[in-house]
Amino acid sequence: MKLSNGFFITRRENPKDESILATKLLIKSGMVIKNTNGVYSYLPMGLRVLKNIKNIIRKEMDNINAEEVLMPVMSKYSESDFLTEEFNFLDRDNNRLKLFSSARELFSYLASFKVRSYKDLHFTLYQINHNFRDEEHVEYGLVRKKEFYTLESYSFDSDEGGLDVSYDKMFLAFKKIFSKLGLDTLVVRSSEGLLSEEFQVISKEGDNKVVKCTRCSYACNIEDATTSTITTVKEVVQKNKEIIKTPGVKTIRDLSEYLDIFPSRILKTIVIKVDNKYKMALLKGESELNIKKLKLLFKTNNVVIPTTYELEKMGIHTGYVGPIDAEIEIIADNEVKSMFNAVCGSNKKGYYYINVNPGVDFKVNRYADVKLFDSNSLCPRCKSKAEILKGIEVGHIFKLETNYSKEYNLKYTDEINEEQYVHMGSYGIGLDRCVDAIVEKHHDDKGIIWPVDIAPYKVAIVILNIDDSESFKYAKKLYEKLNDLGVDTILDDRKESVGVKFNDIDLIGIPIRITVGRKLESGYVELKLRNNEKSTDIKIDVILSKVLEEINNYVI
Ligand SMILES: [Zn+2]
Repeated sequence: MKLSNGFFITRRENPKDESILATKLLIKSGMVIKNTNGVYSYLPMGLRVLKNIKNIIRKEMDNINAEEVLMPVMSKYSESDFLTEEFNFLDRDNNRLKLFSSARELFSYLASFKVRSYKDLHFTLYQINHNFRDEEHVEYGLVRKKEFYTLESYSFDSDEGGLDVSYDKMFLAFKKIFSKLGLDTLVVRSSEGLLSEEFQVISKEGDNKVVKCTRCSYACNIEDATTSTITTVKEVVQKNKEIIKTPGVKTIRDLSEYLDIFPSRILKTIVIKVDNKYKMALLKGESELNIKKLKLLFKTNNVVIPTTYELEKMGIHTGYVGPIDAEIEIIADNEVKSMFNAVCGSNKKGYYYINVNPGVDFKVNRYADVKLFDSNSLCPRCKSKAEILKGIEVGHIFKLETNYSKEYNLKYTDEINEEQYVHMGSYGIGLDRCVDAIVEKHHDDKGIIWPVDIAPYKVAIVILNIDDSESFKYAKKLYEKLNDLGVDTILDDRKESVGVKFNDIDLIGIPIRITVGRKLESGYVELKLRNNEKSTDIKIDVILSKVLEEINNYVI
């Protein structure tokens, strides 16, 4: 591609409406533009990056015999979809349709056309397509898009043993893909019950939190990390509860300052709605509620925290909610069991109770692990200190077993003619997330440093003086030769200053820069690698072999 008539837009300034560094760089370097929150376009350079990622994925999918299909992005909306974040709309005939956040149901449907007997299994299908989600938090740039590209793959096996083999093959394929993308991933467990693992790129700009033990190999998504409590039973004198006036106090922090006590002495009370029924959840003051754990506990997806407006309308004073005399089911975190002479809301505006004791002053219907893992929590496996790290989830693999085949009635007949459910595995990679994570991991203050297999072009030829016909002629010939050899090359033949050209080539992260200038007369061009400050003069008669050698050896 010749830059003089290419669609090439770079910016000097950081985009103002973007907070993620990698996405800022992608916009500055003209790889993507933002259309609206959570919605981006890939420009020619960025699209080449995306295509290169797709090629790497396709190659590894081929290697494990997975076959590519292409599904529609929309389907009929059903009532059971109401809690998902899927977009839905009415068509001209008043049919409600949805845009898929995952095409799982289509893959199961497709498999049903083939699967009759055990002889029809095993196989693996995949697609690389758009998915859509009405994402609430879109402040993470390319990491959280409303419309995003994914690899979505499913394996279909007759039994657990077959699924284990498929899962392990895919696990290794994912490892290879991420390594080719230049991404170090931490594999963390997620989801209780079913085996599921996430590939997380540890990054301070990640939208996920993961727990990693400092001693053993335990690593888990924070939402799935079990918290273990070491309770030391103390001989305590339980006092009688008292109501006290607390003017101006509304939050746990206010209360802890007003009474000069640690937040761990305060009972945090949260009203929750489970399958449209109000309940109360109790935690130690400094803890956060883990909604995912509540969903598992109540075996439903329908767990929400009502809005302040909804609660105030019911006469509930948010900020003063407490469990005493509450006539609804109370679920308390295991840590609450060991609290004594605690402080809690009185359900009366401006008043709190002190010296409150669980089991004495109020009844707990159920104790369970419902808090989010925090800095005080210990590794559930070895009880050592655990770190909480931020990560970008780039891949996720699940052993679905027969859960979805039951939902979609995907069955086969076995050797003795009995009906069995198909064992499925599900595997996904977020392509936009990969783009963002690669840039996050590989950049400097000049711009992006793409791994050679991802770079939009491998070589950039810069003509120092565009008016020098000898330089121009040689550069054009070299450009054509490299492209003929299959080395994707751009020719910077713009009428710009050399400073602008160098800055742009650095910004867009092209691995090899060849500058054609004054030394051409004596038979030399200058070669510089993006990952190295030094430049070298290379004789023009060996430039082609030198470029091929540098491409093979380029490591970032
Ligand atoms: Zn541990």
